[in-house]
Amino acid sequence: MIKFLDLQKINNRFREEFQTAFSKSLDDAHFILGDNVTKFENEFAKYCGTDYCVGTANGLDALTLILKGYIQLGKLKKGDKVIVPANTFIATILSVLHAELVPVFIEPDPKTYNISAKTVESYLGKDVKAIIMVHLYGQLADTKGLMELVSNNNLLLIEDAAQAHGAISNYKNLKAGNLSNAAAFSFYPSKNLGALGDGGAVTTNDKELVEVLSLLRNYGSKEKYKNEIVGYNSRLDDLQAAFLNIKLKMLNKDNERRREIAKTYLKGIKNSKLKLPLYDGSENHVFYAFVIEVEARDKFIEHLNQNGIEYLIHYPIPPHKQYAFHRFSHLNLPISEKIHKRIISLPISPIMTNTEVDTVIKVLNSY
Ligand SMILES: *Cc1c(COP(=O)(O)O)cnc(C)c1O
Repeated sequence: MIKFLDLQKINNRFREEFQTAFSKSLDDAHFILGDNVTKFENEFAKYCGTDYCVGTANGLDALTLILKGYIQLGKLKKGDKVIVPANTFIATILSVLHAELVPVFIEPDPKTYNISAKTVESYLGKDVKAIIMVHLYGQLADTKGLMELVSNNNLLLIEDAAQAHGAISNYKNLKAGNLSNAAAFSFYPSKNLGALGDGGAVTTNDKELVEVLSLLRNYGSKEKYKNEIVGYNSRLDDLQAAFLNIKLKMLNKDNERRREIAKTYLKGIKNSKLKLPLYDGSENHVFYAFVIEVEARDKFIEHLNQNGIEYLIHYPIPPHKQYAFHRFSHLNLPISEKIHKRIISLPISPIMTNTEVDTVIKVLNSY
């Protein structure tokens, strides 16, 4: 059996360091916004190349608080339209709704699964005030195009970088998290940088936004029991920050191993029934997921099951077809719908062995 993602094995590499960090945390007893959070915020900002990082409780909150922060600063207002990819994890779109903004669903480029500036441009109108670009599956979106588009049209650009920790753009060599006004990260356990529970962060160079976010995540309060704005409780847990400080040191190596596996898949899988992902071989992809397309997916899944290969589908139902979003079900988004019917994600993770990778290739070539 080849696991899709062996979280036990991934985290076991750090067992002793985690245990030391946990003991220290027990001794210090500074569980909320302690030194581990501050250290992680400094280290992760440095890693991404941004001036600031603000920890949050999870990735959805990171996205939502960016939008609410810009509302607080008067740069967005209730009812403004925000462009989002139609094929994304539902959190991207939920954040827009939670901030009382209006999502505009855009079809992706079927080759990269990401939105491109060319498509977005035709949807710009006077009510569109922001674009959320998602670096889906770990591959950076059309960074150059979208950065130019927002600067020519005076729009906010926001990154959903929940799947792209450490990806580096071919454009200006900037990292995910530093390609927009503000970026949201998730440290959900399965992400490229994953905690042992929930966690999230915003990275940005916008000092005003940081000040608002620091309040918003903490009951609108800088000083205990003094509430300046109507805030939330969405702090990055201090113990999770301690674990993330340990794992961050391994992130580049882990991403490099993911790319190595992806390259091996791309070279080894030779089957005309399977459409492999587009990859230019650069560091602009960190392969959160290795996603292929297949016509008769159920039959292919049977083949994987028979051969003991775990898989996932990122994602089986497009957001506008989710029951929770039935108000968007009338939207005509054929590219996204087609993608959702055909995609399947193969096992990929930094601890996969070469033998396991070769087995996956053999199984795929025998389909
Ligand atoms: C995981 C993920 C999120 C949400 O992160 P949580 O920490 O689970 O809230 C948002 N967007 C994308 C694209 C994700 O993959």
